[in-house]
Amino acid sequence: MHQYLFPRSFKTNYLEADYGDGLYIYDKAGKKYLDGCSGALISNLGHRNKDIIAAVEKQFAKLEFAHPSRWRTDIAEEAAAAVAETAPGDLDNVWFVSGGSEAVETALKLARQYYVERDGEGSGKHVTIGRWNSYHGSTIGTMAVAGSMARRRMFLPLFKESPKIPSTYCYRCHFCKRYPQCGLLCAHALEEMIQIIGPQYISSFIAEPIVGSTAGAVVPPDEYWPMLREICDRYDILLIADEVMTGCGRTGKNFCVDHWNVVPDIIATAKGMAAGYMPTGGIIARNHLIEAIKNGSGAFMHGHTYNGNPMSAAAVAAVFRYMKEHKVVENAAKMGELLGAGLKKIGEGSAIIGEVRGKGLMWGFEVVKDKASKEPFEKKLAAANVVTRACIEEGLIIYPSSGQITGTGGDNFMIGPPLVITEPQVKELLEKLKAGIEKAENAIA
Ligand code: PLP
Repeated sequence: MHQYLFPRSFKTNYLEADYGDGLYIYDKAGKKYLDGCSGALISNLGHRNKDIIAAVEKQFAKLEFAHPSRWRTDIAEEAAAAVAETAPGDLDNVWFVSGGSEAVETALKLARQYYVERDGEGSGKHVTIGRWNSYHGSTIGTMAVAGSMARRRMFLPLFKESPKIPSTYCYRCHFCKRYPQCGLLCAHALEEMIQIIGPQYISSFIAEPIVGSTAGAVVPPDEYWPMLREICDRYDILLIADEVMTGCGRTGKNFCVDHWNVVPDIIATAKGMAAGYMPTGGIIARNHLIEAIKNGSGAFMHGHTYNGNPMSAAAVAAVFRYMKEHKVVENAAKMGELLGAGLKKIGEGSAIIGEVRGKGLMWGFEVVKDKASKEPFEKKLAAANVVTRACIEEGLIIYPSSGQITGTGGDNFMIGPPLVITEPQVKELLEKLKAGIEKAENAIA
């Protein structure tokens, strides 16, 4: 096993995947696992969806690749139109890449180029402000704007650090305040940082609408994103929403920013975009950004070989067609209500679940040693692993992130099943989770 394939972790006992079917993945021994986190909130339509497979196969038989420097294809146009149709405001311009990190890198470069096109080569606007407790990808550029120290520490000498403000995290407020008396100091922190650096040097601010992999689906107060929008407008700074995880219907709206009627300047998205059927990501940009390039140099100084490749485009077009025809986003909102209510009930009955939070089908919970004081379990107990393993024994895959490793507090988990989940399957997921949590509780509490 893994004789040639270099694993991510030499300490993990990997499950041996054999095949998938709907919400389930089967291992080689024939054991069935409910994919309670869609991989990493990717497999939004579940596994082996016949419509998507047929569409990808059809494209494969027609044209597998045409280099984007020379060729435009109908399938890439169709995919871009389908994505743009779901995006808010005048976010009408799609640029496809191969994944989330590339999407964020693309957004950062577009933000810089926009100001050079608009204000000339002497434009000082180049800094991107990010947030602590965030994840934007694994590449050098995305790590520079993200704030998950565990993932960055070793690589710090390799990149140019960007300034950070605290993230929203009401359960463990950075300012030791309570909402709403806090007056959203976390949003005002952006304005403070802009004033410290000087808006003339800042091109953009980037944030995840709901913090995903570093903190287990942390939802901000409703006023937060409208306040970010207003601050960015006032200082002439582009607002980038990293919707790699939250986009494409995951939170029960097309994009998570739709919950607050905010139109960012750029959305970076991936995961659910092709729902795991092809490696895909992309940005969606507002018209004035693209107009500036069109009327300026005429070319976006960026590109990858697989930009808008026909195979990924076929998957994206089919995924968006399927979502529309089967009202998948509406289902996510409806099933999300049920899932959230069930998770909150499990949380209330558990001695170790400190908080349950989420939107649509992106839910998270945090386990702690003491619910009253919110004290986390000792690191050596590896609570994130204990809970995950207990759920796996029950035939349920969940997404752990140890807050003690990422530096955010307790051990966090995400529950994000495929958006096509049905009511009986929500019930099944909750039953398996409850059994897993109880088993873990007996082991560590
Ligand atoms: N941004 C966010 C919010 C993510 O959750 C992720 C991946 O988990 C990324 C960016 C990076 O995406 P990828 O792993 O496809 O490069």
